[in-house]
Amino acid sequence: MTNQAGIARGYFSEDVLAAVNATLVSRLKDEGAYLDGIYVCTHHPTAGESPYRMVCDCRKPRPGLLLRAASELGLDLSRSTLVGDRASDLVAGRAAGARSVLVLTGYGLGEWEYQRDSFPVPPDHVAEDLLDAVEWVLGGRRS
Ligand SMILES: [Zn+2]
Repeated sequence: MTNQAGIARGYFSEDVLAAVNATLVSRLKDEGAYLDGIYVCTHHPTAGESPYRMVCDCRKPRPGLLLRAASELGLDLSRSTLVGDRASDLVAGRAAGARSVLVLTGYGLGEWEYQRDSFPVPPDHVAEDLLDAVEWVLGGRRS
């Protein structure tokens, strides 16, 4: 799940995004990992032009991408965990009925160090990295 308003803003094209995603999938495959899907919001409520400039239901913190993935992939969101590096990810996860983990990689450390007092919803777990997040999910732990 990713907000990519850079498309709405004209910073890069959908073709560039598709190439980046294809590279991501390829590198994961090389390491024996796979993705069931990549869900992208290319919209922005105030920037850019049609069709990207719009108030949509998929731009996090709205849960539209999660709901779409759940529908297409047959996921039970009440038994799912969203792992993200932004407060808006946590909000989207909560709105969709999932648990949420904040990872301290990417934007996560800065969000946690400087923004946590204003998080709309707290994470169910704060993970050092993706491996820590996965271990927490698999262990069924709460912290
Ligand atoms: Zn959107």
